[in-house]
Amino acid sequence: MANYLKEKERLCDVAIRLNNNGFNHGATGNCSLRTKEGFLITPSGIANRNLIPEIMVELDMHGKKINTSPLNASSEWLFHKDLYRMNKNINAVIHTHCPYATALSTIDKALNSFHYMIAVAGGKDIRCAKYALFGTQELSDNILEAMRDRKACLIANHGLVTAAEDLETAYDITEEIEHLSMVYINAQKISEPKILSDDDMVDVLDRFQTYSRWGKD
Ligand SMILES: [Zn+2]
Repeated sequence: MANYLKEKERLCDVAIRLNNNGFNHGATGNCSLRTKEGFLITPSGIANRNLIPEIMVELDMHGKKINTSPLNASSEWLFHKDLYRMNKNINAVIHTHCPYATALSTIDKALNSFHYMIAVAGGKDIRCAKYALFGTQELSDNILEAMRDRKACLIANHGLVTAAEDLETAYDITEEIEHLSMVYINAQKISEPKILSDDDMVDVLDRFQTYSRWGKD
């Protein structure tokens, strides 16, 4: 069985970077990376700052642990598995409790097209998945529904999920959405932000396909 040392290092690096940049804190959030046999995911119940590559957990596509990590997978592994099964182009998933996007998740509304970079998630809005208890199939089902044709969604009263073709892209989308969420909250302090039209957003999405890294599938 493959050892995936490089992949474990990359996953661990990203998990620590998410923590150090304030997108996660304590032991919150989790991230994963597809492998041939299933996926590597950060473990449960350990502070992000203490993560090391050796304890990254590998699960198969039924959620069974298939490597020798002494720890269990993050309790939120189920929606990672379901996202990989839903879309073969997804190779990395990042889940965060980042402060601004999480604040917006408590309003339980899609993030609308108040800024053209909303298209970074692949559509004219960023949906909000309905609330359900963490770690449940119900929550995973709600996330998959909100992620249809998208690379990201908020999770009501919880946080943010991004999924992309590689770990760096998933990280960059997380960073962009957290920034957009901060801008949205700031703009709302002044007035209700002006919304771009569907036509405007179609133009942006077209442009992303042609000229930008964000158009990659
Ligand atoms: Zn969570």
